[in-house]
Amino acid sequence: MQQTVLWTTDLPMYEVKTSVHVRIRDTVTTCQEAAQIMQAGGLVAFATETVYGLGASVLHEEALKKVFLVKGRPQDNPLITHVSQIDQVIQLASEVSDLARALMNRFWPGPLSILFPVRDDVSRIVTAGLDHVAIRMPNHPQALALIDALGAPIAAPSANQSGKPSPTLAHHVLDDLADKIDGVIDGGACDVGIESTVIELQGDHIIILRPGRISAEDLREFGAEVSLDPFLEHHEIPSKPRAPGQKYRHYAPQGQLTIYLGDDSQKIEERIAKEAQALAQQGFKVGALVMNSDFTPNVDALFYLGSLASFTELEKNLYVALRSCDDRHIDRILAQGTPEVGRYRAFMNRLYKAAGGNVITVS
Ligand code: AMP
Ligand code: MG
Repeated sequence: MQQTVLWTTDLPMYEVKTSVHVRIRDTVTTCQEAAQIMQAGGLVAFATETVYGLGASVLHEEALKKVFLVKGRPQDNPLITHVSQIDQVIQLASEVSDLARALMNRFWPGPLSILFPVRDDVSRIVTAGLDHVAIRMPNHPQALALIDALGAPIAAPSANQSGKPSPTLAHHVLDDLADKIDGVIDGGACDVGIESTVIELQGDHIIILRPGRISAEDLREFGAEVSLDPFLEHHEIPSKPRAPGQKYRHYAPQGQLTIYLGDDSQKIEERIAKEAQALAQQGFKVGALVMNSDFTPNVDALFYLGSLASFTELEKNLYVALRSCDDRHIDRILAQGTPEVGRYRAFMNRLYKAAGGNVITVS
């Protein structure tokens, strides 16, 4: 068993297992201590603006292997690398196109992971044997300070047990990985709350492999030609995915989640309330994810995700709600959905993955 350190600037407000070693430190000291552990091959989870990442030095092959083992991550699912300066990209990429450079200047630091042709001397554990490496610069002061202190890019998938919703709070990481990793830096709640947008560049053309906060609309406003990977239009698991992560069912809570779609929010709410009552009568513990704070169906766990008018609130609260449903052993989760268009695409992509195909259209 591994002793896990929790670095915080203050006493934690959540319950911490007695085996976790709490160290109260300022950010500079925390990053120095954490970087030292990572230089020696350790794994440290840290906050970014998207979700918490489980970090390993890209220079440490054994640490990279451990990331897959600890998470139970399939070995063919590559890791995103994180840099703190644009200049660091050439330590990983063999080529940087003009379009890539313009995108980095416009959207970094931020939730945009760009695929680059990978240099020969970069470990193929990071890329899962592929010839491209995904790189981004996180928009979080602790993440940037940690990369600076390490002096090398950090490879980091989300810091959760594979298959579970990504962690957006330090205690989510501890719930999944305490006693398995070297440390967690508590950076508070992640602002964005869902994983980064992943894009591939083909000449002047951008292909979105995974939707995220940086949307097709943002990229078009910037002047680029953008399309979505064709699989994103359907919700089936592609047999030959462009981003290997596409073939895995992610972000799933333990309870069975059903999405309710339709043009009329009031009808959706009536349907959810009725369904919740029927399920409770059958003995299920029921949760609901709603977008109207006045709608209070009689359920065991009720989560107001945010206003239907605000995709940013919905994104920020989704994983917190799914993880709380797990904590409360909820069997059935009833969630209001939105049309899967425009800036709502990222939220709905994660909700569809969590639902594994259970969708009801209310008319
Ligand atoms: P996670 O680290 O859990 O946020 O997942 C990273 C996502 O980025 C997965 O869907 C990966 O398949 C995708 N990804 C990372 N690196 C590459 C790459 N080199 N080529 C294609 N997709 C990638
Ligand atoms: Mg992940």
